[in-house]
Amino acid sequence: MSAREQDLREIREAVAKLCATFPMEYWRGLDRERKYPTEFVRALTEAGWLSCLIPEEYGGAGLGLRAAAAVLEEVQRSGANGAACHAQMYTMGTILRHCSEAQKKTYLPKIAKGELRLQAFAITEPSAGTDTSSLRTSAVRKGNAYVLNGQKVWTSRAEHSDLMLVLARTTPRERVEKKTDGMSVFLLDMRTALGRGLTVRPIRTMINHATTEVFFDDVAVPADNLVGEEGRGFRYVLDGMNAERILIGAECIGDAKWFIEKASAYARERKVFGRPIGQNQGIQFPIARAYMAMRAAELMVERAAVLYESNEACGPESNMAKQLAAEASWQAGDMCLQTHGGFGLAEEYDVERKFRETRLYQIAPISTNLVLCYLAEHVLELPRSY
Ligand SMILES: Cc1cc2nc3c(=O)[nH]c(=O)nc-3n(C[C@H](O)[C@H](O)[C@H](O)COP(=O)(O)OP(=O)(O)OC[C@H]3O[C@@H](n4cnc5c(N)ncnc54)[C@H](O)[C@@H]3O)c2cc1C
Repeated sequence: MSAREQDLREIREAVAKLCATFPMEYWRGLDRERKYPTEFVRALTEAGWLSCLIPEEYGGAGLGLRAAAAVLEEVQRSGANGAACHAQMYTMGTILRHCSEAQKKTYLPKIAKGELRLQAFAITEPSAGTDTSSLRTSAVRKGNAYVLNGQKVWTSRAEHSDLMLVLARTTPRERVEKKTDGMSVFLLDMRTALGRGLTVRPIRTMINHATTEVFFDDVAVPADNLVGEEGRGFRYVLDGMNAERILIGAECIGDAKWFIEKASAYARERKVFGRPIGQNQGIQFPIARAYMAMRAAELMVERAAVLYESNEACGPESNMAKQLAAEASWQAGDMCLQTHGGFGLAEEYDVERKFRETRLYQIAPISTNLVLCYLAEHVLELPRSY
């Protein structure tokens, strides 16, 4: 075993140990009340796991994407809902690659210490989901600030974050040559913007996701908070997407493992007709199939992460990793619920909660169809369909 694999194993063990201190009753209670897991996020932050991608010079652990993937996979594997805090890792690519040195010095050490939370990432709008380039939120330069106007939807964790990465149009769509030009990324400090034009409203969903809609009504953002160059924001966001896909893939693998372990344990124990249900091939085969699908997807997640860490092109692998892992977790979730019979629907078994939670990854942050569109166009050289 190489030292690196040993490191990853130690990370997994440490994260699993921390997660074990948050029992299933904790997650069940929060889910029932749609409450945010503040204590869990604090514990992960204090242990340094949420800042593992932040370079050491800014107070983080300076680890790579495989380590971050291992952290998120273990969180999900424990039965927890890591969606509460994964955005700090998803957004790190944009921050590390495109923020200025001054911005990094201002924000990263505080994020690493847990003094600032970077958990909100506002791209989607009511009329711009899959088609990001049609977004309408505008940012107009006035003196030393940009003034934001518009609306975002599905801005998750906005109520539990201090900073928000926002993508807005700085040049109207009709005045740019390419529709993906003219958008810019801002690092908005919500602590000063709330009540000064920024309004956040929670959206209740089928899962406990702390998601919201956000309204900008003449919100002033200092020009110093523009990330990189004006007009190039779409590229910056795209740049971060491979990392995001790989991390989501890892979370789905964690979910799939949880479902498979839970189903196997139940199938060994539950007796019907005087013998364990797991003795029936009708129960064994779906578990074995889910295991195979998970292992195959896991290999793609690992492959994509290795390519990403070596700075090699990994668009196809990252997209396939996300999709295969999301499909594997959904297959495992469906199998686990079926294996539990009626008890699969009972809150106290946690299966129905995880089943609901893992369904999201067929839709967000990119829906399955769009991954297929990507492969058709960029790998199979078929005509662009959208
Ligand atoms: C719980 C939750 C949390 C989220 N968190 C965030 C967040 O923190 N920040 C953020 O910015 N966004 C977030 N999102 C938004 C998410 O990224 C979008 O929902 C997703 O990108 C899909 O956009 P849409 O919902 O507008 O679907 P639409 O774009 O309206 O698409 C609807 C359906 O049509 C399909 N479709 C559209 N065009 C095509 C085509 N050309 N070919 C084939 N099929 C097509 C899609 O695949 C989809 O199935 C979140 C969403 C949810 C539900």
